[in-house]
Amino acid sequence: MAGIDITGLAVEYPNGVRAVDGLDLRVADGELFALLGPSGCGKTTLLRAIAGLEPVAAGAVAIGSRELTGVPPGARGVAMVFQDYALFPHMTVAENIAYPLRVRRAPKARQRAEAERVAAGLSLSGLLDRRPGQLSGGQQQRTALARAIAVEADVLLLDEPLSNLDARLRLEARTFLKRWQRELALTTVFVTHDQAEALALADRIAVMEAGRVRQLGTPREVFQRP
Ligand code: ADP
Ligand code: ADP
Repeated sequence: MAGIDITGLAVEYPNGVRAVDGLDLRVADGELFALLGPSGCGKTTLLRAIAGLEPVAAGAVAIGSRELTGVPPGARGVAMVFQDYALFPHMTVAENIAYPLRVRRAPKARQRAEAERVAAGLSLSGLLDRRPGQLSGGQQQRTALARAIAVEADVLLLDEPLSNLDARLRLEARTFLKRWQRELALTTVFVTHDQAEALALADRIAVMEAGRVRQLGTPREVFQRP
């Protein structure tokens, strides 16, 4: 069980900005959950706090039944895709995707096979031996997504994962993400500013405003579709 339980969470930057301000949220195990809201409302900060990358001023985050205060990012069972991808420039696409397996000392052949499998679903098969510097922005984004999937974490956190893709690739990546997420029942939280994306992908949506959840429900409830 790897639902996410957030209670009274506050994150404050050194300049005094309360980017997350007393936020409560529960994401169910295996749910595909979207965070929507205007720029600056705290979406990225919330993801980073779940990942353990921002110190928490108040409240708590739990995954499953495990409270995460003081647990370092690498031990949280969380994989995150950043807006700037954070790929290793000296590694090939295949090596980047397989990196989490390499850290776990998986056999070389398994690393390659897993990289090929994940890459195929994201139309990256022809690019496995390139380096990030030889990829377009969209290709880098898909590589970052592939690497996060290869982590086999309990929880996947995605910061605007499909924002750099053209319309065709975005559709493909949506389909892949949804299928993969269903197969693995991977609890997934993704940030987007795109209502259509949230509508197409999410089981539920939280709309944030000024560091809190303003609205919460299924896409139908949030967008009041008939
Ligand atoms: P969103 O992802 O919804 O655009 P962010 O989480 O990036 O929102 O930012 C929330 C608020 O925190 C904004 O007011 C932003 O300016 C501020 N903020 C974000 N990162 C930092 C930082 N490193 N230092 C100071 N303030 C920050
Ligand atoms: P987002 O899409 O999350 O809104 P931004 O463009 O606001 O991204 O922020 C990009 C980077 O700048 C992030 O690393 C964020 O932490 C940092 N940042 C954002 N706002 C501030 C701020 N007011 N002061 C310092 N750093 C900030």
